[in-house]
Amino acid sequence: MRCTRYLPAAAASALAATLLMPSPLKAWTHLGGSLDINQRDFRVYNNFSDPEANNNPSPDLSFPGATGAPLAIWKAYVEWGSGLHGNGSGDPTQPYDLGSGGANFDPSWQGLADSPGGTDDNIVSELSGFGGGVLAFTELPISDGWRIRFYQDPVVWHDGPGLPPNLEDNRDLQGVAAHEFGHALGLGHSADFNATMFASASLEEGNFRSIEEDDRLGLQALYGIADPLKPRIETYELNPGASVTIVGQNFAPQGNSVWFTRETGLSDGTPLQVNNLSSTDGGTKIVCPIPSDAGPGDVLVRRPGSANSDLSNAFPFDPLLQHCPDPVTYGVPKTTSQQTVPSLYAASWPSATLNNFRIGTTGGIPSALGILFSGPAAQDRPLLGGSLLVAPPIKREQVFQFGIFGWTERPVVVDPQMVGTTRHYQIWFQDSADPWGAGLSDGMQVTFCP
Ligand SMILES: [Zn+2]
Repeated sequence: MRCTRYLPAAAASALAATLLMPSPLKAWTHLGGSLDINQRDFRVYNNFSDPEANNNPSPDLSFPGATGAPLAIWKAYVEWGSGLHGNGSGDPTQPYDLGSGGANFDPSWQGLADSPGGTDDNIVSELSGFGGGVLAFTELPISDGWRIRFYQDPVVWHDGPGLPPNLEDNRDLQGVAAHEFGHALGLGHSADFNATMFASASLEEGNFRSIEEDDRLGLQALYGIADPLKPRIETYELNPGASVTIVGQNFAPQGNSVWFTRETGLSDGTPLQVNNLSSTDGGTKIVCPIPSDAGPGDVLVRRPGSANSDLSNAFPFDPLLQHCPDPVTYGVPKTTSQQTVPSLYAASWPSATLNNFRIGTTGGIPSALGILFSGPAAQDRPLLGGSLLVAPPIKREQVFQFGIFGWTERPVVVDPQMVGTTRHYQIWFQDSADPWGAGLSDGMQVTFCP
């Protein structure tokens, strides 16, 4: 079975007619099948011949190890995922919003292939020759897999990350790939002009990178609305001795599998798997050895069972991730009116990739309000019977309230622009029985890493 995508020029009058019609509520169609849970893998045979298809040399923290056409195509597929891919970053046209499917479906990136493969090998590649009105097509055994081909001519393919300059001769690899992946998932064309599965490329091609409500409804009808009890990876921590602690929700007590991306392109696309893993802490943690041939890519967790809802989201994973320097506390905290010592501690690493860094405080005043603040450097200046340990310009990060045991833990968002910079943190809080009415913690120096 073939599904095609047409240039808009020939369809201009049809588009105009479509614009005059109200958008149908359910315009999606299905092709008559869906992908088996063992067909979540995908690869790219990077034979794209236009220099513009591979001129983005910048790796993205959310897509470890990929650049150029493979990076653009990987972004296109994760948009169909159950929820945000990592922190959802990577596409300037959808800031922090990549992963919009809301269904029990997530793809598993398996790197580069060394050929276009067969019609069920789940590989994206270029096909030499002139497609005429057809830009790309998807071959679809459906449950057994698929193959996607982009015609070399007549357009120039662009890998982004922004949109190509003009749409007459230039096309957006990511946007067209998002449409073709819809076919690979079992969706036909939609009658909704706004949908990514609308048959023709519109003049606003960037819109096709982001799937729309009609696409979501069609996807959810195939794979089910994302189950709240589906396993979910939220972050991970690399441990000494080549193991990883995967942190999330709804892992099975026993019998979990962790899927990794293979480091080499020599595989048949089957995810690298570590099986029979137990979870701890109420199904929120799995400790898994990292196989020596696991490369940068994604990890997924599969519970025992074959329901679509037994497979987790895909989470960006890089075993080569360098640990950040450990945050360092400094200075002397001011003892509170309750004779406790308000001390800062760091939870997780201040990494933009992990983005789960927290600054915690123990020894505060139960239920008191406080402020976490930061500055570019350290200092030690008398203030309110204690020491101000952060130099100006001081930034108020957030207001918080201590718990009933005088404890708090505050998330600090680490965005990519912060990588390589250092900040100094301290907290001020209310202490009504103190002569100055205020408490001050020690300081913490944090250097952010990828
Ligand atoms: Zn199509």
